[in-house]
Amino acid sequence: MHELHLAQDILQKIKAEAEAKGLRPKVTYAKVGLGASRFTHMDELLELFADISGGIKLEIDIIPVKTACGQCGAEFSPKKMRLDCEKCGSTDIRMLSGNELIVREIG
Ligand SMILES: [Zn+2]
Repeated sequence: MHELHLAQDILQKIKAEAEAKGLRPKVTYAKVGLGASRFTHMDELLELFADISGGIKLEIDIIPVKTACGQCGAEFSPKKMRLDCEKCGSTDIRMLSGNELIVREIG
């Protein structure tokens, strides 16, 4: 149910943003930047969002995952979340990007 929580988070962010901007209560469109590490099934996410949002058209801009090794400093963009460095095998890995949830546009 990971995707459902995420869909709820996105909806909440959009609503908070709409309120902060004093937009009309009904938002019909939103564009969000979403880190690739936050979801696994985009189709499922969009479906769930459609179910709970009451008709907000959602556009998602995927932000790729980027990590850096704390030992050797290597940076890479793993296809899947890795817990070890591709170069030196260290497990001291920091995520540089890929965990974002940013509302870019609403209307
Ligand atoms: Zn390394």
